[in-house]
Amino acid sequence: MTFPASPQSGERNYRVPQLFINGEWRDGTAETVTRVINPATEEVLGELSHASVADIDQAIAAAEVGYRAWRNVPAYERGMLIERAVALMLERRESIAFLITIEQGKPLAQARNEVTAAADMIKWYGEQARRIYGRIVPSQLSRAQILVQKEPVGPCALFSPWNMPVVLAGRKLGGALAAGCSCVLKPAEETPASVAAMVACFADAGLPAGVLNLVFGPPAEVSRQLLSSSVIQKVSLTGSVSVGKLLAEQSATGLKQTTLELGGHSPVIVMADADIDRAVAQSATAKFRNAGQLCLAPTRFFVQAAVYDRFVDAFGKHAASLKVGDGLDPYSEMGPLANARRLSAVEELVSDAVAAGGHVVSGGMQLGDRGYFYAPTVLCDVPPQARAWREEAFGPIALIKKFDELDEAIADANAIDLGLASYAFTDSAAAQAKLSAELEVGVLAINNIAVSVAEAPFGGVKDSGYGYESGEEGIESYLRTKTIHRQV
Ligand code: NAD
Repeated sequence: MTFPASPQSGERNYRVPQLFINGEWRDGTAETVTRVINPATEEVLGELSHASVADIDQAIAAAEVGYRAWRNVPAYERGMLIERAVALMLERRESIAFLITIEQGKPLAQARNEVTAAADMIKWYGEQARRIYGRIVPSQLSRAQILVQKEPVGPCALFSPWNMPVVLAGRKLGGALAAGCSCVLKPAEETPASVAAMVACFADAGLPAGVLNLVFGPPAEVSRQLLSSSVIQKVSLTGSVSVGKLLAEQSATGLKQTTLELGGHSPVIVMADADIDRAVAQSATAKFRNAGQLCLAPTRFFVQAAVYDRFVDAFGKHAASLKVGDGLDPYSEMGPLANARRLSAVEELVSDAVAAGGHVVSGGMQLGDRGYFYAPTVLCDVPPQARAWREEAFGPIALIKKFDELDEAIADANAIDLGLASYAFTDSAAAQAKLSAELEVGVLAINNIAVSVAEAPFGGVKDSGYGYESGEEGIESYLRTKTIHRQV
């Protein structure tokens, strides 16, 4: 069969995808399924069949054969094929965006942007394929050279989550394929069709069978089987800290290379000299995009005393003005949370913060009685013992706290175990330098909110994980180095 049903037509039909193993779309043969739910309506969209142990074994075997073929395809041709797949993604953007929205909930405009961003990231990797250079090192011996050459690391197990299904899966498979690796991709079962539609673009662009395999199933069982295989050489996960630690342990047994992009709880530091209108507009957009379900979403706002009241007022008004609704409604600016788990987690964090003495500036409640909608929420005066200061919100919650001296804000920003993205608004060169030096994070955006782009590395420190995606470091993570000492 071909998938999706009519990708070019933009038809608004939903069909649960199949597995893609060794170049063939087929149902999983396990007896279990995942019910895929539209988070805006709670309607069951369909039942996703799971891969059995035998299906996963076949995917691993296909990736092993696929790797031997793909690694020998010249980098130029790998790049050209990736370019064709990217062109198909953009051609099919409307239908892929529809799948993202109906499965994940975000407004269609954001879903379209997600497809565009994923295409851009994959394109960059494809272009980079022919810039995978080695080097020649002068030898201490006469008539000798030391050649350092890069090779694809091997078949990869790629695990991607439900919050940005196409960007986060696309970023992994773009890097792997550009480097010459094959892969078994296991996206989140809650948002399968948009990722399958992207995989279909690669299949239709002519990717050889076995190079890219797609499986769905109980995450713990699938990852255990993939990670225990000696064929798999590299593991990449975007997900929660707890799952990251589990996979790190399992990967260690087989000494597999690992990239872990885990949670974040991003600080935003707003200095009194900043352009406050710009800081509010940009950071509120970043906060409530994707209903706050982003590892890089700003959540802990530290605002200097002189501009605190103005910032809280403007930020609260921005949150209150957002139109929350079904992502298929073109007027919706924020959709529902992606699943019932998120809704209860967000409710618990807000109740805990309020019980501890926090003040609700805006929102603070579930919306409607159907779908997982929660109001864009702004809290201030939340005491330090509240869970929300330490636990990743992964939802539309902003906490705002006043500070006097920059040192205080930096200490607060660094006080938790997570260190992924961070944001600062100030025109002071001295403050910018201090923030750049002292924030314990992987990424810092100053006077803007773009922290995750195709051409620069993205990754975290502390419990936010290790390794990088995108940029040169991103492609490097799918390579290994061979050194050849040659004498004539
Ligand atoms: P979860 O920990 O159950 O799952 C997170 C993701 O990991 C899901 O995509 C899931 O399919 C996958 N997963 C779960 N167990 C796995 C396993 N043993 N092997 C491989 N993959 C596995 O949590 P959840 O309820 O889906 O999400 C809650 C938390 O996860 C959020 O609070 C957030 O911290 C984190 N999360 C982070 C990102 C990110 O972009 N870094 C994305 C999604 C979720």
